Amino acid sequence: MSSSISERINTVRAELPPSVRLIAVSKQVPTDVIRTAYTAGIRDFAENRIQEAIAKQAELQDLSDINWHFIGHLQSNKAKKALENFQWIHSVDNLKLAQRLNELAQQIGVSPYVCLQVKILPDPNKSGWNVSQLLADLPTLNQCKNLQIQGLMTIPPLGLTQQEIMLVFNRTRELAQEIREQNWPHIQMQHLSMGMSGDYRLAIQAGATMIRLGTILFGERGV
Ligand SMILES: *Cc1c(COP(=O)(O)O)cnc(C)c1O
Repeated sequence: MSSSISERINTVRAELPPSVRLIAVSKQVPTDVIRTAYTAGIRDFAENRIQEAIAKQAELQDLSDINWHFIGHLQSNKAKKALENFQWIHSVDNLKLAQRLNELAQQIGVSPYVCLQVKILPDPNKSGWNVSQLLADLPTLNQCKNLQIQGLMTIPPLGLTQQEIMLVFNRTRELAQEIREQNWPHIQMQHLSMGMSGDYRLAIQAGATMIRLGTILFGERGV
């Protein structure tokens, strides 16, 4: 089982262009399996629940060069814990959360890398900015100087055709470009966190710089 995980990691890695960072989504994955992935060379792991992540991070303290990425919906009462335990937060999904993280980051003395989560199509099951809200909030986001805003994150709604998914990813890249051209001093837009097990090839075609893969590396998760 564990050798098959390193095989899967190597297979996926072999097809990635060097510009794409592979982030292993280790939610619901036990720490012995995370160690196997680490041994296979993975240094970026993503979690979507703070409590689960902190417990596993404690068991993995000896692997001190792991970069931890938070990818779940972040409640404001967990924001401090997220800042204390993750180098990246991909799922900053509204202005209030961004401002809260910015304040706390200053208090704690950290400057996390963050992505702004955007919804290109309406999706009642996902949080995130819609495009016009995000554009309107940029001046305020630009004042969040303790956050290192790196780019956009998106998750297409379920049930789209490949073409529709491609459209979502392409639109996300164009939006990042549009924001980049506005030259905000405190908003970087060089990263696109998009692509999961089912759609990462499309995401890479559309310019993803970070793909977040769970199932294809670790197998199906339990419920
Ligand atoms: C679970 C999850 C992933 C990984 O999904 P897979 O389909 O298992 O690759 C990626 N991104 C987010 C935000 C997730 O919650």
